[in-house]
Amino acid sequence: MSVASGAYTDISDAVNMNTEDDRASQSDENQERPEPKFSAHQRPLPRQPVIELQELREDSVKFLLKDTDMSVANALRRVMISEVPTMAIDMVEIENNSSVLADEYIAHRLGLIPLSSSNANMFVENRDCECTDHCPKCSVTYRIKVTNHSDENMLVTSKDLKLERPMEAMGEVYPVHYLQSESPVTTESAVVIVKLGKNQEFSARCIAKKGIGKEHAKWIPTAVVTYQLIPEIIINQELMEECTLEQKQSFVNSCPTKVYGYNKQTDQVSVERPLDCTFCEECQYRAEDMDAADLVSITNKKDNFIFTVETNGALKPEEIVLNAIQILKEKLTYLKNEVSQIEYPHVN
Ligand code: SF4
Ligand SMILES: [Zn+2]
Repeated sequence: MSVASGAYTDISDAVNMNTEDDRASQSDENQERPEPKFSAHQRPLPRQPVIELQELREDSVKFLLKDTDMSVANALRRVMISEVPTMAIDMVEIENNSSVLADEYIAHRLGLIPLSSSNANMFVENRDCECTDHCPKCSVTYRIKVTNHSDENMLVTSKDLKLERPMEAMGEVYPVHYLQSESPVTTESAVVIVKLGKNQEFSARCIAKKGIGKEHAKWIPTAVVTYQLIPEIIINQELMEECTLEQKQSFVNSCPTKVYGYNKQTDQVSVERPLDCTFCEECQYRAEDMDAADLVSITNKKDNFIFTVETNGALKPEEIVLNAIQILKEKLTYLKNEVSQIEYPHVN
């Protein structure tokens, strides 16, 4: 199921791992097992985590992950950052470099250029490939050759990277350019690699390979990945009614992110923007100063998380999330299989 096409994505399979086959095999096994010593209603029910899409943009996605633990939210975040495969330039053969920058410096910059990686899963990991060095099954090769014949300085950019041979079965893997959407007309801006003075030249052969962020940061597909806890802010209205107008306004103004609002007509303080709460506790300190420590209670929901995932352009934001869920599911399946093979000692 695609996040882009629907409001909900059920990730319960990734977390609970109870597939139809599993359930069928469990029921077979249960017939041979002795009766459990506890009744069914005492067992904790498996949870059904759900993703609720809130905002999908070209460069980011915002979603609510519901009904799960922080450990799952954290695992999902870490997999998105460090285990979703992408393509990145890994080998650079510099042929000529008369610019002011050292070869290593430019090679490092080339490695950090995001490459479109929607087809990354079609490539074989270079270390698992049957070739001796690299081949079209495990890599993409670019050439770059720029000479400045003008009197002005010249920029060498990611637009100067040209595919050495056209891609066939694997589809396109090309450098990602940045969108400058703040200007009235959206324009593309390439990544600058090096600046060339008069008569300076830069030429190289670059080999991009598949990898993951755990190995090197150049393969990370994300920019920022955060999750926010959802605050539960409850005002004790009985205590609030006993406060003077000055105290109410002082309490409202104590919040640096303007979570509270004061209504003159009803003379009431209410929570208007709970998601802006940063748990800084300033309002609670103000309530203590007013001798009303119980004026407000601030906790957070333990099983709801608002994720914001920004892409660096290598993958679409929804591809990062869906690929990460798939990877998490595969890891849990592997763990489940390994655990099922453990032979426990017989205990009387
Ligand atoms: S804890 Fe801080 S951010 Fe949250 S409501 Fe109180 S003052 Fe505002
Ligand atoms: Zn190969």
